[in-house]
Amino acid sequence: MSLLLNPHVKDIVHQFDYTDTDVNNAVKEFLRQMAEGLERDGTSLSQIPTYVTAVPNGTEKGLYMAVDLGGTNFRVCSIKLNGDGSFYLTSSKVEIPKELMVAKTAQELFAFLARQIALFLEKHHTDRFEAHVRRRMTASSPLGFRDESVFRMGFTFSFPVRQVGVNRGTLIRWTKGFDIPDAVGKDVCALLQAEIDKLHLPVKITALVNDTVGTLMARSYSAPGKHGAVLGAIFGTGTNGAYVEQLSKVKKPLVGDYDASTGLMVINTEWGSFDNELSVLPNTPWDIALDKLTPNPGLQMYEKRVSGMFLGEVMRQVLLDILKNPNIPLFKDVDSRSNDWTSVTEVRETSPIFQPWGIDTKSLSVAAGDNMPPLPLLRGELESLDINSPSFEDAQVFKAIAEAIVRRAARLSAVAIAAIVLQTGKLTDPDLADEPVDIGVDGSLVEHYPCFTDMIYEALRAVDGIGEEGAKRIRIGIAKDGSGVGAALIALVAGRMETANEAAGISELRSTVNTVDDPENERAVSESD
Ligand code: ADP
Ligand code: MG
Repeated sequence: MSLLLNPHVKDIVHQFDYTDTDVNNAVKEFLRQMAEGLERDGTSLSQIPTYVTAVPNGTEKGLYMAVDLGGTNFRVCSIKLNGDGSFYLTSSKVEIPKELMVAKTAQELFAFLARQIALFLEKHHTDRFEAHVRRRMTASSPLGFRDESVFRMGFTFSFPVRQVGVNRGTLIRWTKGFDIPDAVGKDVCALLQAEIDKLHLPVKITALVNDTVGTLMARSYSAPGKHGAVLGAIFGTGTNGAYVEQLSKVKKPLVGDYDASTGLMVINTEWGSFDNELSVLPNTPWDIALDKLTPNPGLQMYEKRVSGMFLGEVMRQVLLDILKNPNIPLFKDVDSRSNDWTSVTEVRETSPIFQPWGIDTKSLSVAAGDNMPPLPLLRGELESLDINSPSFEDAQVFKAIAEAIVRRAARLSAVAIAAIVLQTGKLTDPDLADEPVDIGVDGSLVEHYPCFTDMIYEALRAVDGIGEEGAKRIRIGIAKDGSGVGAALIALVAGRMETANEAAGISELRSTVNTVDDPENERAVSESD
């Protein structure tokens, strides 16, 4: 009998089912938790007002910087806005060393970030960097610096923050494996600016941005059509979303300054902590085992079932169980005739399967992307996990389980998207009957996992109040480099409000987006759907 038909394997795959009824129940609960979060603090969904009430109009000019602390990587970019809605983006990226994620002091992490900014300036903006250093050496006091030589920078910081001003916000809690208690309650902009100043860099942080808000802005800027995006969502290391809410529905007090004339407020949901009490979220033995391994057990329960940091680990937990189960001969040399590779099939002791967090979600993408028997790509991937000579059947089982885990994740992602689409009322507004409801997404999971968006749409079609027709109007598009570009756009708006009295009016934005990864290799990319 094929291993795929083994009833124990089928049972495991089955445990990751998340039915249409489950999806509908969860959407209702999500809507309830959203409303609760708009009323008061300390609820499951934080629903954080961002004080962003407008978007720029595409005529802005200038050179801005943006940095993005995501969870896995730190990106530094500069964005040249051409004044005609197009821009050039130069960026560099470095992986955050694991030891810094749990450093003793916040200063260690932020000093590392400032050093990356210095390296970027030296490499990509040598003239400004050197001129600034020269000026510093000749100027008698720091006040002697000319302001125009200073870069305005947007800081994308993708952890829950209580925002108290456009460039001020205190860390509420760490997520995604970070744990530096020293930083909690501190202003993350002040922490980074202090380290930037220690290196005498010509950089001033003018905006603190959540990656979801950046994605929403960038998508509004580049999406075709008359209306901006309603939601910016991240499916990367973690998951979260920010959406455009009616100001009148924000019942809890707003403490910061904001422009109320638009009648809108961008809300950062912090949906990673949706349903921590598990009233509608699924909970398999492997979800429970994973939760125990994290520094924040019982928290971010939705994120732990959805995002890139966790899906590989759910897979590893399942595999650990299977390897202990005598009823499932996975990766075992039980029948050498069925093993078309001649050597012994076994999991070596050195395999990352035996290391917490040893399996990256990338491996699940490889599994989903290999559809060609006898699954040579996936078997190569398994070899790289120190599994000796996996058979076609072994690979089939790995693939079936991986797909079940990610399919559940995509259907759970659809829950948040559906609830927010329903909350905005766009599908039932007769004035918008022919308009698409635009959603910007960013993050490696949604960008690279095969058909992740298709699986989201499949679940959206099953939601009461959306259905086939509604799903057709929902347009989900990747906001490439969204968090970097969005942060620069917000830095610009913040700077403009700071210097001139001119309030940024809401206007519709359409543009051609030009990006370059490296100036030596300039390429113009025209983004459209
Ligand atoms: P960040 O969250 O730091 O902004 P990303 O959006 O790149 O960074 O997300 C990184 C996460 O995405 C990691 O958890 C990683 O496991 C996962 N990931 C990276 N590449 C892939 C891929 N090809 N398929 C699925 N997941 C991926
Ligand atoms: Mg990111």
